[in-house]
Amino acid sequence: MRKQRLIVPLALLAVLSVPAHAEERDIGRDVLAAHDGWAAHGSGTTGGAAADDAHVFTVTDRAGLVRALDGGSDTPKIIRVAGTIDANTDDRGRRIDCADYATDGYGLKKYLTAYDPRTWGSARPGGPQEEARQASAARQAERVVLRVGSHTTIVGVGDDAVIKGASLQVRNADNVIVRNLELRDAYDCFPVWQPNSGGLGDWKTAYDNLWLAGATHVWVDHVTFSDQGHPDEDEPTHFGRTYLRHDGLLDITHASDLITVSWSRFADHDKAMLIGNGDTAVADRGRLRVTLHHNAFESVVQRAPRVRFGQVHLYNNRYVVPEDAHDYRYSIGVSTESAVYAENNAFTVPGHVEAADLVKSWNGSAFFQRGSLFNGYPVDLLAIHNAYNSGSERDLTADVGWTPALHGPIDSAAAADRAVREGAGAGRIP
Ligand code: CA
Repeated sequence: MRKQRLIVPLALLAVLSVPAHAEERDIGRDVLAAHDGWAAHGSGTTGGAAADDAHVFTVTDRAGLVRALDGGSDTPKIIRVAGTIDANTDDRGRRIDCADYATDGYGLKKYLTAYDPRTWGSARPGGPQEEARQASAARQAERVVLRVGSHTTIVGVGDDAVIKGASLQVRNADNVIVRNLELRDAYDCFPVWQPNSGGLGDWKTAYDNLWLAGATHVWVDHVTFSDQGHPDEDEPTHFGRTYLRHDGLLDITHASDLITVSWSRFADHDKAMLIGNGDTAVADRGRLRVTLHHNAFESVVQRAPRVRFGQVHLYNNRYVVPEDAHDYRYSIGVSTESAVYAENNAFTVPGHVEAADLVKSWNGSAFFQRGSLFNGYPVDLLAIHNAYNSGSERDLTADVGWTPALHGPIDSAAAADRAVREGAGAGRIP
């Protein structure tokens, strides 16, 4: 009897201690697995794994994060983000709002009066209000643009790490890992009016939550990207166009190369991911090689992704368009010289979205797909595109000129859809 009483509490103690140890596993020195997508090519992606102990930082506010980033230095470093960091804060941690940034007499009402297309016409905005907007925007950029240098790992601690209001930018740097983090609401206080954009004009915003420009060997894993707090659908229209506050969630441009984005969640946003930002950016030719696997694209209007030039392997992703998404445009954009190789992706969409809507092409010529699921049923996205394309779109061929070699196990679309629903995003590293 005495022995039995002793055994029970010990067993309970052992069980209770398991989750605590699991939470404390240090992911800061993890490196990308061999073969896990394009970022595994060549030297692979190790981020800050080689950091010495003096360059492992735990940061809880903007000032700490800025110190740890060290102006985008190349020193190997591991930055552990604990809790929520707001980029729109001063050096003492006090909140800065849009009115605080405004300077030189900038005011939205005055701006709208100055550049009303009915009186100003279709010229680019110029003069005192545009100059004041630029000066105000520069003040915000000084706070929210955060440069990430080579050999850097940024990871969230636990399951609730958030950086909000920031635009993390990896520019002309190599070997970066971003994991287990929510990147939220890269909100532009000072959108600019572009009268000649798309015929009607459009509001252009400055910040992507994460921007890779001239970046190589980058692994983005278990990151949640969203506009949480300021959905663009709640913004008013000015000059007949939505006053957008956000640009891309994750844009990959300027000859970036060798990127793997895995188990991440892109949610509640208009333009999610642009790979290649111009038809004439020929420096991107032969680069922009990106692997996207086991990501969720939920309530995204367009660009999931839109691709120019790059060899993009898109496998085992989950796409969900909600019933009330009447602004949905397309998911996969096939543009100039792109070579998208899509395997086993699952699309769940409401009745007003047709299979022909999922892929859209501009100046694209090829798109390979297999194993796609449309509301649970097999669909050939290429055949559907060619059968139902709008008059302006060319037929696409299946010959994208390459076959992916660097990848992990590829699941069926149905199995991946379930796994991504449960496992993608911040706070979900197994
Ligand atoms: Ca962008």
